[in-house]
Amino acid sequence: MTAAAGGGQAREVLAVKFGHRVTTRAESYLNYHLYGEPDADLDIDYFFWVIRDGADVFLVDTGFAPEAGDRRRRAHYGTPAQALPLLGIDPADVTAIVITHAHWDHTGNVWQFPNAQVVMTEAEYAFWTSPMAARRHFAAHSEQEEIALLARRRDDGTLSLFTGQSTLAPGIELIEVGGHTAGQLIVTVAAPGGGTAVLASDALHFYEEVERDRPFAIVADLPAMYRAYDTLAQLASQPGTRLVAGHDPAVRDRFAGYAPAPPAEAAEAAEVQVTDLTRPHVG
Ligand SMILES: [Zn+2]
Repeated sequence: MTAAAGGGQAREVLAVKFGHRVTTRAESYLNYHLYGEPDADLDIDYFFWVIRDGADVFLVDTGFAPEAGDRRRRAHYGTPAQALPLLGIDPADVTAIVITHAHWDHTGNVWQFPNAQVVMTEAEYAFWTSPMAARRHFAAHSEQEEIALLARRRDDGTLSLFTGQSTLAPGIELIEVGGHTAGQLIVTVAAPGGGTAVLASDALHFYEEVERDRPFAIVADLPAMYRAYDTLAQLASQPGTRLVAGHDPAVRDRFAGYAPAPPAEAAEAAEVQVTDLTRPHVG
């Protein structure tokens, strides 16, 4: 289903913060001791992203499941099915789900969207359904049941795979970069008014990774992670193109807030914070 050109409202690109944790710099950056700086607390936000494009709604990742968040001691404020009504979106209207990578904080809640087509990279899917994924340093970051659900979706034909680059809709590109995981992808979204939002997901947890060339601590392929930073820096150098980091609270400073009146039935999800990624914060 694709919206007719010019029909409906302008494309919206939103970040929904649904969780939070306080971690440390030493836990977040690879071999932090190399920098010779004192450790310090570091706030980490958890987001999923929504692209509303006429009649189509694309969800980029699905956050973590509440029970997985509780087990891992992360604060959380709502699942996509609870948060989407805040944006006036019926979860049943989600057309497609992009899984940027298969870590637990991005693959929860897929079961809430039985009618949506799921899209991810072939490399990511192949990795997490291979024996290597059971090794501790990988398994620690995934939820087995959620991988199993993706495999069932593959079997029933509602999960599609690509390699390299894929067009989700006109102006929305999925680009495989790897590094953080075997097949990590980023999403570039042409926004109304001519800019481009780059949903980097965990190719860029914190802006500092690209801005100070500091790899994140969890990494499948370090040279690929550095190359992904180069790709992101190159994109960011283009006029009107803005990076959206995957876990950085600074996203909510760099972009404008989005504050529709929440309908009463969504009151339980009222703590989620929504940011408009088509509008840089000014002032
Ligand atoms: Zn993540």
